[in-house]
Amino acid sequence: MNSANAPLVIVGAGHAGGRAALTLRDQGYRGRLILIGDEPHAPYERPPLSKGLLQGTVDLAGYSLCDSARLAELDIEHLADNPVHRLDPQQHRLQLADGRWLDYARLLLATGGRARRLPSVPEDLLNVLYLRTHDEALALRASLRPGTRLVVVGGGFIGLEVAATARALGCTVTLLEAGPRLAGRVLPERLSGVLLDLHRSQGVDVRLNVAIEAVQGTRCVESVQLVDGQLLPCDLVVVGIGMQPNIELAAAAGLDVGQGIRVDAHLRSSAPDIFAAGDVCEFRLHPHGVFQRQETWRNAEAQGRHAALNLLGGELPFEVIPGFWSDQYDWGLQTVGVIANTQPTASRDTPGGGFLMFYLDAEQRLQGACGWGQGNSIARDIKLCERLIAHSNPLSVGALADADVPLKQLLRS
Ligand code: FAD
Ligand code: NAP
Repeated sequence: MNSANAPLVIVGAGHAGGRAALTLRDQGYRGRLILIGDEPHAPYERPPLSKGLLQGTVDLAGYSLCDSARLAELDIEHLADNPVHRLDPQQHRLQLADGRWLDYARLLLATGGRARRLPSVPEDLLNVLYLRTHDEALALRASLRPGTRLVVVGGGFIGLEVAATARALGCTVTLLEAGPRLAGRVLPERLSGVLLDLHRSQGVDVRLNVAIEAVQGTRCVESVQLVDGQLLPCDLVVVGIGMQPNIELAAAAGLDVGQGIRVDAHLRSSAPDIFAAGDVCEFRLHPHGVFQRQETWRNAEAQGRHAALNLLGGELPFEVIPGFWSDQYDWGLQTVGVIANTQPTASRDTPGGGFLMFYLDAEQRLQGACGWGQGNSIARDIKLCERLIAHSNPLSVGALADADVPLKQLLRS
């Protein structure tokens, strides 16, 4: 088959893949469009899996990008539960788990990632749970009952959000973090500190700098043993120790792969007509910057949309101001831009016990900001920071640090 007449194909029916498929139709692409997934569901967003779904306040319909009926209406062929096993970039074709070969004209790889496994905790034990998919979140929800003794391994976002929800549901929670502070690779020290104080004040037994020696139990974990010999009796273990990008398909096909599938400024991989987007995509945030991946909702959304435009022949360089958020108990943190894991250049308090921190470059231009506040209270300020980053004007450190100077005023000056 001549690949020019072949369909556009998207591998990975998650957030980035789903967004790309919908954008292709929005943009008026009327040709054959195939969206291949290895989960049974239509594309959905993952943030509620560790928050609203566990709390029982939202269900799949509430965070679906589109349901099966809408996919059918848009004539998007969704092949569910059917992972792609092999990719042949020379022949412009791929093979599904069911053995079928499909040709493609252009291909988007949006294969995301999977939960990193912890070898010292055998995962065939019935009460060891990981959290990446809707089905895993349902299994976890069913296990979080009042009085459940939960051990959470990992003090990153999964660990912290699950711990917060589990406390609200009446579980007893011990959280084990290998490093010296919570979410220490991505958050500045002050945010790690407020998270630690908050979780401890909510009754979570947070242990830092700890490592697991082994677990006891045959069918189920009955207790977790730390390397210092302490035994932690438990009913449930949730492991959230990071994400492993699904790069194997691309690597086996000979694509340029580092920590993710490497792409150029247009999100094009090293193979002709193959693009990548989302958690699995390794790109340069700035033209001369280092390759990096972003594991965030915002990136999946923006790259999914952007890759669709370039699949249609656009030559648009991908540019984004990164950012993410996390909600825990009644508090929220948000970041925008690039926040160094160092002291901020300036910070200010916000009403209700929150704060904002600002990171300037040598020319006093805002590179990144982050904040902490009750509920969604800092959202407006973070939006203003995003505009300040985009404006790229030099700013006064004194004005940023002065809570009486509205950020909006800095935009005008
Ligand atoms: P995914 O959404 O993981 O989609 C990839 C899909 O491809 C998956 O369905 C995968 O199974 C499938 N796939 C893989 N290999 C194949 C194959 N060979 N064939 C077919 N299909 C394949 N970010 C935030 O900014 N804020 C949050 O509050 C937040 N909360 C989160 C909570 C949880 C529990 C999780 C897991 C993530 C959260 N994130 C959050 C991160 C955000 O959800 C991810 O960055 C985003 O989902 C990435 O989208 P993606 O499309 O790249 O990957
Ligand atoms: P993560 O954010 O990378 O955090 C993993 C944490 O586990 C790190 O603090 C890590 O410490 C620690 N750790 C690693 N090995 C450990 C061990 N053996 N014992 C104890 N602690 C260990 O990953 P995650 O929380 O598992 O989340 C997975 C994915 O979901 C990520 O892509 C994340 O961005 C996404 N997610 C995002 C949000 C959000 O943005 N709000 C919410 C939920 C999930 P070191 O860093 O020191 O190794």
